[in-house]
Amino acid sequence: MKIARFCKDGNKYYGVFEGGVFKLINGNIFDSFEITDEEMSLNEVELLSPVDPPNILAIGLNYQRHAEETGHEFLEQPVLFLKATTSIIGSEDNIIIPEQAPDYVDYEAELAIVIGKKAKNIEAAEVDEYILGYTCANDVSARDCQLRIDQQWARGKSFDTFCPLGPWMETELEPDNLKISSILNGEIMQDSNTSDMIFNVRDIVSYCSKNMTLLPRTVILTGTPEGVGMAREFEVYLQPGDRIEVEIEGIGKLGNDVVAE
Ligand code: MG
Repeated sequence: MKIARFCKDGNKYYGVFEGGVFKLINGNIFDSFEITDEEMSLNEVELLSPVDPPNILAIGLNYQRHAEETGHEFLEQPVLFLKATTSIIGSEDNIIIPEQAPDYVDYEAELAIVIGKKAKNIEAAEVDEYILGYTCANDVSARDCQLRIDQQWARGKSFDTFCPLGPWMETELEPDNLKISSILNGEIMQDSNTSDMIFNVRDIVSYCSKNMTLLPRTVILTGTPEGVGMAREFEVYLQPGDRIEVEIEGIGKLGNDVVAE
């Protein structure tokens, strides 16, 4: 089931995307809800991020070939960092290149997990019952801040608009063997599969839950495959006028235009 969050005439709704229309949801998708017969079409609503999380957790260097392209051969445990929740935008919102760091803004296609219920100290085998769904994410990153200037990742990963999520979440998905790609101005930049993850979705959620409480609506980004702009033979960074898309098999395509601040 594809659950979207969207806005029409200033009101926010959840709906199930089915046959080109949204069927409105009554109730709380993190508790109990029902799908009504009331419909809205895609072109009369503005898509929002499918969730409004209390925390965005993110895993770095989690695809084998991406770890290799950035000079990290072997990881004993996931590299966990945070992105500010104020960086979230929905599909078709603009990514804004910040005045503070305009020159090295990179894209990262990622599978995002949405936590459905409070999780603490859970084992990998229990993880499925704590996940509500999955969506596409772009872990937009100002590489100069992240790697050279700040020596840690908080600012470079957290500029406003640096966490596009969407277009909706898919609640029935087997996450370990999905095509994942990013497309810049129509050209495929990353083209991989979630089977290349070093730590899979269940390992990641279990690991995170053993380090901090995962509240309902928490989003966890699971890392990006090889092909990011900074690691290419000729480096590529996002520029005003670009369009960057993230597509994941079984979910859909998240698309955002890039503008200057
Ligand atoms: Mg990332």
